Amino acid sequence: MSLEKFFNPESVAIVGASQTKGKVGYEILTNMVKAGFKGEIFPVNHKAKTIENLTCYPNLEAIGQTPDLVIIIIPAKFVASIMQECVKLGVKSVIIITAGFKEIGKEGQKLEQQITQIAKHGGIRVIGPNCLGVIAPSSNLNASFAGDLPKKGTIGYLSQSGALLAALLDIANAHGIGFSKLVSIGNKADIDELDLIEAFGKDPDTKVIAGYLENITDGNSFVEEAEKISHSKPIILIKSGSTAAGAKAASSHTGSLAGAETAYEAVFERSGVIRCNSIREQFDYAQAFANQPLPAGNSVVVITNAGGPGIMAADAIEKEGLTFAKLTNETRKKLADGLPPAANIHNPIDVLGDALADKYEFALDVALDDPNVDAVLVLLTPQAMTEAVGTAEAMAKILSKKSQKPVFASFIGANQVADAIDVLRSSGIPQYDSPESAVKTIRTMVDYVKWRGRPKRVIKLFPVNRRKVETIVERHLRNNIREVGETESKEILGAYGFIRPEGSVVSTAEQAANVAQQLGFPVVMKIWSPDILHKSDVGGVKVGLKNAQDVMDAFDLMMYRIPKKMPEADILGVLVQEMCRKGKEVILGMHRDPHFGPLMMFGMGGTMVEVLKDVSFYPAPLTAEEARQMLVNTKTYKILQGVRGEKGVDIDAIAEGLQRLSQLVTEFPQIQELDINPYVIGPKGTAAIAVDARMSVEKV
Ligand code: ADP
Ligand code: MG
Repeated sequence: MSLEKFFNPESVAIVGASQTKGKVGYEILTNMVKAGFKGEIFPVNHKAKTIENLTCYPNLEAIGQTPDLVIIIIPAKFVASIMQECVKLGVKSVIIITAGFKEIGKEGQKLEQQITQIAKHGGIRVIGPNCLGVIAPSSNLNASFAGDLPKKGTIGYLSQSGALLAALLDIANAHGIGFSKLVSIGNKADIDELDLIEAFGKDPDTKVIAGYLENITDGNSFVEEAEKISHSKPIILIKSGSTAAGAKAASSHTGSLAGAETAYEAVFERSGVIRCNSIREQFDYAQAFANQPLPAGNSVVVITNAGGPGIMAADAIEKEGLTFAKLTNETRKKLADGLPPAANIHNPIDVLGDALADKYEFALDVALDDPNVDAVLVLLTPQAMTEAVGTAEAMAKILSKKSQKPVFASFIGANQVADAIDVLRSSGIPQYDSPESAVKTIRTMVDYVKWRGRPKRVIKLFPVNRRKVETIVERHLRNNIREVGETESKEILGAYGFIRPEGSVVSTAEQAANVAQQLGFPVVMKIWSPDILHKSDVGGVKVGLKNAQDVMDAFDLMMYRIPKKMPEADILGVLVQEMCRKGKEVILGMHRDPHFGPLMMFGMGGTMVEVLKDVSFYPAPLTAEEARQMLVNTKTYKILQGVRGEKGVDIDAIAEGLQRLSQLVTEFPQIQELDINPYVIGPKGTAAIAVDARMSVEKV
């Protein structure tokens, strides 16, 4: 059902409207009136005759017609009965401002469930409870007590924190930032972030979707929808708070490296959601996306009247990985003709400290025509001759003629540039406090364009032996064994095409020597116990055993020492394994997030993985490109490519390993956590080997 009536109702009833200044029921009513709402307003109050010259009604029925929207502000315990009345009257849209529901504990939760039930059966959509309300400037609707009606604009905002929305509105109103709609979603009893993102996605008045969220109700649908909508509209979110994932004790490296925010980071990246850390940053991005075209590439030119800020901008451009545009000969010639001889006609174009507005106008005009330029950043410092307002007006004039490329401004100062900044804002030219924040915004836009342009996601399916995995997993679950040990984990991996070292488990020194003989020296010996997760921590791994004597000695030593260190551990024997040739050790892993599902991990492996923490995460299933990008996102990538004359390793083999794992965990939701550590990888053409592996399984 569309949410249209929340934003563009013809009539609004306010149940709990009040005559008393300072009460929410009064504030909302006066906000409605002040905003100039064109439809009808019906205050409902069983004592008052009129409030603010509006006729009051003792109850909803007394109005004599069904209002499009009902706002409820009465105490929590009475809300359910009003909801019943709404059902009777055929009301379809309700905003419940009242607090005292889920957020206060069990009692409140019961009340909330009750009203959700009534709404569901009665076909009513609900925003709230425990929210600040809804604002829609285009219909002069301020059904909130968040603040004054903001300017009409193209940003759709949703907030899980009412207080934050009020602060944001205050800032926005001070800076003249406009919105299409603002919604305080409160406890999300019915309408949640996803409903609103979908509604904003379809809303022709909304160009940019922004919001503040503390949690996401339905992880999988969120990813799916956000990914669809991000293709046409940027979604810019502040996300605070942490997931439940962090609370669960992890037994794998991957699990312990997945921080509380890992899943959000990963799914936002996947679905193109732009994440920011503050309201300031969010406005920085939103005003650019709302008012400027997207850059076609990443080449930026800077126009400035001062050297220092020009250098700051140049540094920021380099730091953000953007390109410092190289101007064409033609552009430079034009600039040389129109600017004074001392001016710099290369990027950054320095129009000099005494430049009047006309010089800026000229330089901007010329720069926008340069085919090597994708975006322009105009810097201004208020010097003696500077015409700040005139410059802003000149920029607006040029942009009204040339609107293909985005233009950004950073007028640096306070009082001296305040009026000019007003002109910039009202002309839709995003203004930034510093060249750095402007450049960061350009980077964000460039990344978004790249995300939108990425190839269609194609998941490769490898031929595998599912039956075999099924058998092993089922056996564990039947016997209530959560942890899958090294050999069986590797059998599972073998069924999905991984190569593992040969080896067998033995229980005497003689058997160990025999197996070693068959495998060929050197061999590796590892302690074999379901109770020992990280074998080398207890001296349970011996590599490079060169002959039978070495093997027998190592066996005796392990059997003597380890039970002393871990008297509780049930030691079943040792694993004698062929020794792999040397290579780089990486880790491939998976951790299943309770909200978002399987997250793949890649990083520098071996025994130092938790110390170095050089890992990257991405949601499964992975495409080849995403697997590759996971590698690129780590520092390890440079090492793998080969440093200081050393030959690089087979990067494709790692990416393929990640894809195979991603297929495994997608096809087997029982697998909760998984590590291959180390995954030993050599130069191209040599096989990558899953040397050690472990997983945990759970009934699903
Ligand atoms: P754990 O992680 O439980 O301590 P591993 O099986 O990962 O045990 O072994 C620890 C380290 O020993 C590995 O990171 C690797 O460097 C080395 N290692 C283990 N098995 C082999 C093998 N078959 N060939 C070569 N090196 C090995
Ligand atoms: Mg290991």
